[in-house]
Amino acid sequence: MTRYPNLFRPLDLGHTTLKNRVLMGSMHTGLEETKDWNRVAEFYAERARGGVALMVTGGMAPNREGGVFPGAAGLFTPDDIANHRIVTDRVHQAGGKIAMQILHAGRYAYSPDCVGPSPVKSPISPFPPKELDEDGIEKQIADIATAAARAREAGYDGVEVMGSEGYFINQFLVTHTNKRTDRWGGSYENRMRLPIEVMKRVRAAVGDDFIIIYRLSMIDLVPNGSTHEEVVQLAQEIEKAGASIINTGIGWHEARIPTIATSVPRAGFAWVTKKLMGKVGIPVITSNRINTPEIAEEVLSEGCADMVSMARPFLADAHFVAKAEAGQSALIAPCIACNQACLDHTFSGKISTCLVNPRACHETELQIQPATQTKKVAIVGAGPAGLSTAITAAERGHAVTLFDKSDEIGGQLNMAKKVPGKEEFWGLVDWFGASLEAARVTVQLGQTVGAEDLDGFDEVIIATGVLPRDPGIEGQDGPNVLGYVDVLRGGAEVGKRVAIIGAGGIGFDVAEYLVEDTPSPTLDLQEWKAQWGVGDPEETPGGLSPKGPQPEPPKREVVLLQRKQEKPGKRLGKTTGWIHRAALKLKNVEMKAGVNYERITAEGLWISSGEARENPQLLEVDTIVLCAGQVSERSLADALREKGITAHVIGGADVAAELDAKRAINQGVRLAATL
Ligand code: FAD
Ligand code: NAP
Ligand code: SF4
Repeated sequence: MTRYPNLFRPLDLGHTTLKNRVLMGSMHTGLEETKDWNRVAEFYAERARGGVALMVTGGMAPNREGGVFPGAAGLFTPDDIANHRIVTDRVHQAGGKIAMQILHAGRYAYSPDCVGPSPVKSPISPFPPKELDEDGIEKQIADIATAAARAREAGYDGVEVMGSEGYFINQFLVTHTNKRTDRWGGSYENRMRLPIEVMKRVRAAVGDDFIIIYRLSMIDLVPNGSTHEEVVQLAQEIEKAGASIINTGIGWHEARIPTIATSVPRAGFAWVTKKLMGKVGIPVITSNRINTPEIAEEVLSEGCADMVSMARPFLADAHFVAKAEAGQSALIAPCIACNQACLDHTFSGKISTCLVNPRACHETELQIQPATQTKKVAIVGAGPAGLSTAITAAERGHAVTLFDKSDEIGGQLNMAKKVPGKEEFWGLVDWFGASLEAARVTVQLGQTVGAEDLDGFDEVIIATGVLPRDPGIEGQDGPNVLGYVDVLRGGAEVGKRVAIIGAGGIGFDVAEYLVEDTPSPTLDLQEWKAQWGVGDPEETPGGLSPKGPQPEPPKREVVLLQRKQEKPGKRLGKTTGWIHRAALKLKNVEMKAGVNYERITAEGLWISSGEARENPQLLEVDTIVLCAGQVSERSLADALREKGITAHVIGGADVAAELDAKRAINQGVRLAATL
């Protein structure tokens, strides 16, 4: 008997049946652009083997002008069809089903050739779209229908028509982007014409026995977005026009409300999909921040949707569904919604992968094979670098002993998890714990390891992490000065007025920790919605609250400082930095760049500005928290070297600059794969 009866109930679509209620949502991984179709096929086949009912590919352009960027993958030529066939065949051999997403970017295309309903430039692309004439619109519809027919020819089980997130089809629906006065603009009937026409033509192109998912924007989160009545009306028309399933889209890409970041509550938008339940006769899928089988089951049992879509969780663990079915939920590698290795990579032109699973999108190159010779392996340091090495090495058959001086595993992740909005890190540490046990790693906690303790091992791995950097500021030994470790680990008492020295990832996190009250809004959906100004789409078009953001007052008065002249937070995650900056702004955190730290006295912190050290100023604060970066903890590595013992040094112990858990885990898994 499964613990997830709703999740594992098959879904009958008439001409075909989905074996469970889990869809792998579309993700642009960059794999298709490598043109290594074996690699693309293996990525999807691995997930098909993992038991997901239906997968949706990354967005495929229906024509050149609709590509998200010049050269974006699509399905244009007979060669393309043959390449996609490699993917669909491999997925079918693995027992899976796959649909191709057709994505026309419209004004979001990063190209001077982009087109749209009206020449309204988007804030996320430098190119204003060319306004389409009647023939131009007909061409776009025809190209989308042709792409669907080609998808069928390439062996796909269906297509997803991307009608949300502010892309081309969505741009016709709202007056902000559609200023037309012809039959494609003006009244809602006219603005709705394009999606309905697309759906009819796609259905006509593919026949009845083919899945068509329509991704519909249920809450635009932009000013003058669709009203709830319009959303319902569109869904009903899309059903009539031939869709098999409606999938949920949340927020346009230009929206200034986080929709998938780690600080968004789990299943934080399922309530929006629920509003459509009962209003259409076809299955409805919900999405966004669903990352465990328990949450997925809850969403389904509460009647929020007929099916759940998860995307990034399938980067974190290709076998999510199979593990859930086998009752091994604790062994599912959790997607912590950090975006660090997936979306941040995409937006930097790199292939996506996953912070917790470096094999994601590297399936053909990074293989974890049983070891040819079993070794005794010692690993010192149970942070992410040591943990990932230990688990992978033990899974390969090595006898692994993992040491840490602390009485808990996790290293710095135990500080990260204390930060409001980073609660997902608890699950990450728990998963490491469950995986250590499953892989039978011998764990010795509370043991500070010296060079003398490491005799008798075939391989020694040093993953001792980092130490806080000493910024050497006059007066820093005073009672009003704390380090970030004292605050986040030790629970040291912090005054009401605080200056934070250092505005890197840790400085920002400490600021959030100090201004936010518990429990964090991430654990309280109503508070989170109020904080960001998410309203009820039944009351306000687009779902933006008319009151705007209503954050709780800050718990402390905080000023965040850095020496560099650049904008504080500039080097934070590409897709999440703006959220951290906005969150602190909502709490009135003051940010100062280009400062010099002169000295600390009982009254506070003396700073000056610029190279000439001008404008000396006393910041009258009760506490100063040092977040001035980190240096490698190499004392053990150095002692071993002196004794002539060869060791591998990984994670922060290897290089502290720009260290994060992504690099630590990647290095650990890759080393373990070679031992
Ligand atoms: P560590 O995590 O530092 O682990 C080293 C371990 O070695 C420790 O457990 C220590 O006790 C042990 N050790 C040291 N010496 C000895 C010895 N002689 N004997 C036995 N044990 C020893 N990264 C991200 O990617 N995303 C984030 O969102 C993020 N947020 C963060 C938030 C905060 C507040 C902090 C502090 C860090 C955050 N990081 C984040 C950074 C991330 O946690 C680190 O990059 C990562 O933990 C480094 O991994 P590591 O295994 O090299 O070292
Ligand atoms: P960091 O990002 O390198 O920031 C260090 C800060 O300290 C900078 O603001 C730097 O700015 C300042 N600084 C450096 N030397 C100093 C000195 N001698 N005196 C005073 N200030 C000094 O490092 P971090 O904040 O310690 O974070 C450590 C790592 O954890 C980072 O690499 C980061 O990637 C990772 N992390 C990631 C996240 C995430 O969300 N992805 C969150 C937390 C941490 P100035 O030099 O301009 O003063
Ligand atoms: Fe999830 Fe982070 Fe992995 Fe992306 S990188 S899939 S957000 S855990």
